[in-house]
Amino acid sequence: GLAEKLQGIFKNLRGKGKISEKDVTEAMREIRMALLEADVNYKVVKDFVNRVKERAVGVEVLESLTPGQQVIKVVHDEMTQLMGGTQSKINLASKPPTIVMMVGLQGSGKTTSSGKLARLFKKQGRRPLLVACDIYRPAAIKQLQVLGEQLEIPVFSMGDKQNPVDIAKAARAYAENQGHDLMIVDTAGRLHIDDALMSELENIKTNIRPHEILLVVDAMTGQDAVNVAETFNARLGLDGVILTKLDGDTRGGAALSVKAVTGKPIKFVGMGEKLDALEPFYPDRMASRILGMGDVLTLIEKAQANFDAKKAEELERKLRKAEFTLEDFLDQIQQMKSMGPLSELMGMLPGMGQMKALKGMEISEKDVKHTEAIIRSMTREERRHPEIINGSRRKRIALGSGTSVQEVNKLLKQFEQAQKMMKQIAQMQQGAKSGKKGG
Ligand code: GDP
Ligand code: MG
Repeated sequence: GLAEKLQGIFKNLRGKGKISEKDVTEAMREIRMALLEADVNYKVVKDFVNRVKERAVGVEVLESLTPGQQVIKVVHDEMTQLMGGTQSKINLASKPPTIVMMVGLQGSGKTTSSGKLARLFKKQGRRPLLVACDIYRPAAIKQLQVLGEQLEIPVFSMGDKQNPVDIAKAARAYAENQGHDLMIVDTAGRLHIDDALMSELENIKTNIRPHEILLVVDAMTGQDAVNVAETFNARLGLDGVILTKLDGDTRGGAALSVKAVTGKPIKFVGMGEKLDALEPFYPDRMASRILGMGDVLTLIEKAQANFDAKKAEELERKLRKAEFTLEDFLDQIQQMKSMGPLSELMGMLPGMGQMKALKGMEISEKDVKHTEAIIRSMTREERRHPEIINGSRRKRIALGSGTSVQEVNKLLKQFEQAQKMMKQIAQMQQGAKSGKKGG
């Protein structure tokens, strides 16, 4: 992926005490190739590389950074700028209800993102209403209703016999009546952009005057996503973009190009199919992720939303120091349902991007139950010092937890691997730190 390539390029620069124009030119040539391969728009790449080169050659060297680090910082800064600089929020109506209109091609993730967004607003104490305006796709209304039920958020629909414009208008009246301060309108998509779709969306827009038109695009489609964004923006005037499926095997091109090509910022990113997998988009953090610097901030924030702050602090300290016991493992496993898979969390830690092995570490709900039972059947001493768990102890634990010795063995092995990995992370971070100091 892009992150791995860039890390390789930067590895060569990082240790350098002095950087010549030739070093920069060489690194930029490689970065240019890596970006093009990642499906970043070629014009965007060209401008980007020129800007970085201009700033990187002959930069005044900051005292705290080596020239190599400085080039990396320039690349990071420029990438952040490329994606909009700072976080862009949803426009809220001065007089509620705020109307958010979701648009995009079929399968991009409009309906799912509508639900996810409604959930985020509900968590902030708002009273969202979901509006079903996709009358074409079979079961589209039902899909939104199911999401609404799961989230305990009301869904306004008038079946599939009414005109979407009329539905949207009726929904606004209903929202005003029922005291909803926000409504999210899920519209129809097509497989390809066509005039009928655009006319319908324009019609809805003129009739309900949304405060925010969000285009939902699939990150996996790379440059196509950017082209779609250009077309929708020209016709409808977008306020922002939701980039979905960033959890998949994407090449990063869309994330880097959308703002530069369309002028419209990415406001949220979809990180999975689950309803809590929508995150505000932070350009600087995305730049760090793309550059493989890890994203400790997002990790901590995610943890904090679920644990109390103290626990998060403690976990972070333990992750860093690799003082990770089976008790923490149990704690962590219990939080996992709400925090997303371990592999996703690990991906946010510096240096973990390259660890492909993590993919296999996802743990199913059934595993969670068994793991919990097994760890609970251990004594305190055993949880802190698993190396004392010999054959007879394993038998006792299996019996106590209603599992098998094999399962106990498997868990201990998994834990051992997790612990090893924690140590590696800690060492990598130590290395990065001393590198900075010594640089
Ligand atoms: P729509 O046709 O635009 O309304 O798209 P849907 O909301 O029905 O989503 C299409 C498919 O994409 C569904 O299977 C969703 O679960 C999936 N999907 C949506 N967002 C994401 C995401 O961020 N990550 C992943 N992995 N899948 C997503
Ligand atoms: Mg849909």
